[in-house]
Amino acid sequence: MRAAQGCKRFLEDLGDHLDGTLSGPAHLVFERHLQVCGSCQFLCATVEKTIYYYRTWDAGPIPADIEARLWKALESRMRSPRNSHA
Ligand SMILES: [Zn+2]
Repeated sequence: MRAAQGCKRFLEDLGDHLDGTLSGPAHLVFERHLQVCGSCQFLCATVEKTIYYYRTWDAGPIPADIEARLWKALESRMRSPRNSHA
C-alpha cells in the first residue's frame, strides 16, 4: 500500500476540511488517514495553527502569497523521497 497516495488525497481534501465543507465518505477517508499518518497529522496541525493565528489576529483572509507558500511547502514535503518524518 502506497501511503503517498493517501497523503495526496489528504492534501486535496485538506482545504475542504478547513472550510468545513468536507463531508460524507470523503471526510471519513480524511479522518482515517489523519489517524494513521504522522506526516499528515503534522501538516494538518501546522496548517490549522497558521489559520488559527490569522483568525486570532483578526487579520482577515490569509494573504494569497502566504497561502501559496504554505501549500508549496506542503507539496514539496509530500514529494520528498524521505517522507518519513514521524
Ligand atoms: Zn498522509
